[in-house]
This record gives sequence, structure tokens and C-alpha cells, in this order.
Amino acid sequence: MMWIMRSIRRPLGQFQVAAASFSSSAAAVEAERSIREGVRNDWRREEIKSIYDSPILDLLFHAAQVHRHAHNFREVQQCTLLSIKTGGCSEDCSYCPQSSRYSTGLKAQKLMNEDAVLEAARKAKEAGSTRFCMGAAWRDTVGRKTNFNQILEYVKEIRDMGMEVCCTLGMLEKQQALELKKAGLTAYNHNLDTSREFYPNIITTRTYDERLQTLEYVRDAGINVCSGGIIGLGEAEEDRVGLLHTLATLPIHPESVPINALVAVKGTPLQDQKPVEIWEMIRMIATARIVMPKAMVRLSAGRVRFSMPEQALCFLAGANSIFTGEKLLTTQNNDYDADQTMFKLLGLIPKAPDFSERPAPKEFEPENTEVAAASSG
Ligand code: SF4
Repeated sequence: MMWIMRSIRRPLGQFQVAAASFSSSAAAVEAERSIREGVRNDWRREEIKSIYDSPILDLLFHAAQVHRHAHNFREVQQCTLLSIKTGGCSEDCSYCPQSSRYSTGLKAQKLMNEDAVLEAARKAKEAGSTRFCMGAAWRDTVGRKTNFNQILEYVKEIRDMGMEVCCTLGMLEKQQALELKKAGLTAYNHNLDTSREFYPNIITTRTYDERLQTLEYVRDAGINVCSGGIIGLGEAEEDRVGLLHTLATLPIHPESVPINALVAVKGTPLQDQKPVEIWEMIRMIATARIVMPKAMVRLSAGRVRFSMPEQALCFLAGANSIFTGEKLLTTQNNDYDADQTMFKLLGLIPKAPDFSERPAPKEFEPENTEVAAASSG
């Protein structure tokens, strides 16, 4: 009782000093700076490391503050990802069951026809998705003119349904980015996967710089960049920080940053990786939220392994986008009804589609586009 009385009589100033000293982690300092100064592209790797290493509850709390400042914290974007061309990929991404180099039992398929793709998009829209993403297991789109033109048609049709459209088709050339922009593409996904240093342990068939080049073409064409990575590949925490550092120092932060937890698939070189823990996801999401305050941070692959309370912590940490639908390319995704129940229980609401355009730079304006497209052969 004496303690309570003494506490009550303590002057307010002392409480303020105490509160400040409890909350002086890098997460607190940098979150406050993000709120005060807005988006920054000049992050130093050590700064991001200090945020990442902050006490987890402090990191979570301050990321939630940044999230509430930059977004409507109740809104969660629902995207549907459809594999429109499955398997048979020439690349050697160690986590991917679609690589033709691994025996995962996955059968290579041709590009899905128009009716099937548009039907899937319609169903996704009916189920509440506002963004439809089409994935093709290709190294790149060079030499695939017929298929690429077909995909341009899909983009136009789905955009006309009133949905945002995203594609992930491997590496792009400059003129292909232009053609996708012309067709109405909202975003292009091309993940960096991990840090530059750890990357050669995961993929040897294309370089980190080639990935960055594709992101540059996409950005220059005025298409939103969607780029993130995967944790649980055997990387060190330093590599997770490295990935976030590369993303947060791009000339424009990605519009979307998918954070994936590895889904280890039998037959791939990473089949025996141990599952990512929820705390690792929270640390990644919260750090991404503080360093890229305006980005949509997507709780992506691996969500199926997390319980509703665990997912709630991810939303609190700043995730504001998910994939809905039965499958994520070739792996299992969360159940539709369970997602609906979760939205209701957590008071989440679907985010409306956003059709605001990023202007294409001058060299990409329509009259020049014709020239570039024509020269693409
Ligand atoms: S991640 Fe993409 S590029 Fe890599 S093997 Fe799989 S489908 Fe091919």
C-alpha cells in the first residue's frame, strides 16, 4: 500500500523519464523518425540491423504505430495468385518445386487457356479478391512471343473486370515491361529472395543484378514493383537484414513486399529445412514496416502453418496484404472459410482496389512505346 501511495505521489515528470528510457530501442527511435520524416531511401544496413534486433515486443509495438500512421490498420488487401503455366522451369531456385532439375512429382503444363484464367479471376473477385496475380514458371519471357501476347490479353480482360492485375513471369526486357504497362498491368512481382551475399547458395542460374535489372525496367515503365523474399532458406539473420536493406534503398520502395516463410517441398534441395517460427516472421514484417512505411507488406507463403492468433500478431506488426484462394502457385494455402472467420474475428476489412497510375517516364510515353514495342521483334 505504501508503494502505491508513493507511486501516486511521484511527480509526472519522473514517469515520463522512466517511460522514455524503457522505449529507447532502435525500433522506437526509427519508428518515431519514420512517422516524423516519412519515407527514406538512405537506410544504412546497421540501422536496419538495430531495428531488427530490438526487443521483439518493442519492435512489434513501434511497427504497429508506423502502420497506423501510414495505413488504415483494419484494411487488408486480398490477392489471388494463380499458376497459369506450371512446372518445367529451367532455373535452379533451391526452394522451388517447379524447377525441372528436381524430382518433386510436379507435371509440367502449358499456358492455361483464356477461359480457364478468366473464370479463375471471376471466382477470385466473387470471393473478395481485389488483385489477381498470374504466375508462370519461366526464366524469362524472351522468345515466348505467342504466350506473352496471350498474357497481355489476360491482363486487359482482368483489368476490365475491375481488378488490379499482377504478373510474375521471370525476368523481363525493357520493351516487355512497356507492353505490360500498356495492357494495364498494376504490378509486377519479382522477388530478390534473400541477401546479395546468400543468394548464390540458393540460385546459380541468374544473378542478383539481373533481378535488380528487371525491377528497374518495371519501375521505369511506371508499373508498381512487388518484391520481397523468403526466410527459412538456411540464411543468417544478417541476410534477412541485407534483403530488407536492398529493398529499402531502391530508388522507390516496392509498392508490395511479400514476406514468405519457406514451404519445404520434398524433392527440392531445401526439403529438410526446419520450419520458420512465428517470431522470425514478426521480426521480419515489423522491420519491413518501419523501414518501408508505405509499402503493402504481404504475409505470403507459409501463412497456412500459422494459427489465427499468430497471424493476428503479423497484422499487428504491419502486414496488410495476404494471398487468398486454395493454392499459392503449387502449394497449399489457407482455407477460404477460415480466412472469412479470421477477418470477422479480428475486425479486418478488405482493402478496395487502387487504380491510381504511376506515370511512365517520358521515354515510355505512348508514341515512344510503339517504337519500342515494334523493335522488340
Ligand atoms: S522460382 Fe520461378 S524461376 Fe525459380 S525455379 Fe521456380 S518457377 Fe523457375
